[in-house]
Amino acid sequence: MKLKPESFALQDYLHQTFTCGCGRIHHTDLERILLEAGAVRKVPQLIRELGYRKVFVVSDQNTRRAAGEQLERILTEAGIPFVSYCFSQDPLVPDEHAAGELLMRFDHECDLILGVGTGTINDLCKFMSYQLDRNYFIFATAPSMDGFVSIGAALIDGNMKVTHEAHVPQAVIGDVDILAQAPMDMIAAGVADVMGKYTCLCDWRLAHTVTGEYFCPEVEKMVRIALKRMMDQVKYIKTRDPATIEAVMEALILTGIAMSFVGNSRPASGCEHHISHYWEMMFLFEGRQAVLHGTKVGIGTVIVSRMYRQFLRKGVDYQEAERKADTFDLKEWEEEMKRVYGPAAQGVISLERSEGKNFPEGVKLRLKTIRGHMSEIRQMIETLAPDSEAIQEVLIELGAPVSPAQLGISRDTTADSIKVAKEVRNRYTLLQFLWDLGLLEEMAEENADEIMDGGMEAAGAREAQAAAGERKEAAASVQKTELSA
Ligand SMILES: [Zn+2]
Ligand SMILES: [Zn+2]
Repeated sequence: MKLKPESFALQDYLHQTFTCGCGRIHHTDLERILLEAGAVRKVPQLIRELGYRKVFVVSDQNTRRAAGEQLERILTEAGIPFVSYCFSQDPLVPDEHAAGELLMRFDHECDLILGVGTGTINDLCKFMSYQLDRNYFIFATAPSMDGFVSIGAALIDGNMKVTHEAHVPQAVIGDVDILAQAPMDMIAAGVADVMGKYTCLCDWRLAHTVTGEYFCPEVEKMVRIALKRMMDQVKYIKTRDPATIEAVMEALILTGIAMSFVGNSRPASGCEHHISHYWEMMFLFEGRQAVLHGTKVGIGTVIVSRMYRQFLRKGVDYQEAERKADTFDLKEWEEEMKRVYGPAAQGVISLERSEGKNFPEGVKLRLKTIRGHMSEIRQMIETLAPDSEAIQEVLIELGAPVSPAQLGISRDTTADSIKVAKEVRNRYTLLQFLWDLGLLEEMAEENADEIMDGGMEAAGAREAQAAAGERKEAAASVQKTELSA
């Protein structure tokens, strides 16, 4: 069957094998998507249809309140046997302790695991169900990130984030009535994670041009259509309009399917994600409380979209770039990685030793290709790179941060993160492209200054807005007092 992203609804992507013009066959193991108002009441029917006998329901304090209690009541009424486990930790961290705890509580009579929650619960249930060779459903309590349908389970092990091999859920369930009641910072994080696709798709095209990496225009189209549908309605998010919340969740699920189709996270994650991963690691090492994935990705997207646009105004000196490439000193670079990556440096160093992202021969070869395709690359950026101001506006409107400073990240850490985030993966993105051209260091420094200033202004504007809101409230209460008096 042929992929037709323009006319497909979510369900059309399931139970099919698509022969694609890109030369590959696309398929997802995800079997069911239940995304509608009142979906919670259809869960018993879904469980019966798929032939399960006993369910292990997993939640935490917050997700149990948001949906777990209601879901369990509905299962009881429907006569479906289940065992429920609710984590008492708040916040729950998806680490070796939580994973072990879950394994110890598991009832082996259960043939289905039903996670109620978002990122953390999803990763834990994905991991455990894969280890136990069971299927799992995820009942989403907030449209906060696009990992619902990803293959890997991201867990924290010894303060390091490690992605374990796992599987996609058999079913994703989103009750729009429940999703619309999620905390606004979680909804904003989901919107930001989707907006990150703007830069990630540019990275994918860039990689295709420069390194010849596999690229599928149809999968790109799938993600772009979902992105556009969400952006067309983004102004209604603050009102928690159900159709809009559904569009956000749909985009998150569709990006997950796009990842399944390609077999890795390329259609969903570019250097805006790498910057976010870098900050996440720093937070872990410093023992700071985690920030929502999408919140960090949103700020990363603001930075990367600015840098795409700035590149268009930069001149390129290929001779100077080649000279810089030749001066790469692995020993010196490793010392720098130890400084910026701390306990995670070894992984980054091993990756470079095996992949040689920065080795002069490879860089010079890429420089030749870049030179030959520069007008095409510039045109791609011109037409596809997003306007960072517009992204900032959406985030500010939703009360989400737009600058690293708002997360307590210093100017120098911001500069470091732009310079070295690309080292976490061997994936060609704008950051490696700028490094190849010898422009990354100066652009990181320039941006760290400007972003910090801009972010402060944005934060200032928000405080002013909040203060104005308070004044309005005060004025209203004054009026009320006057009336009642
Ligand atoms: Zn394809
Ligand atoms: Zn993401």
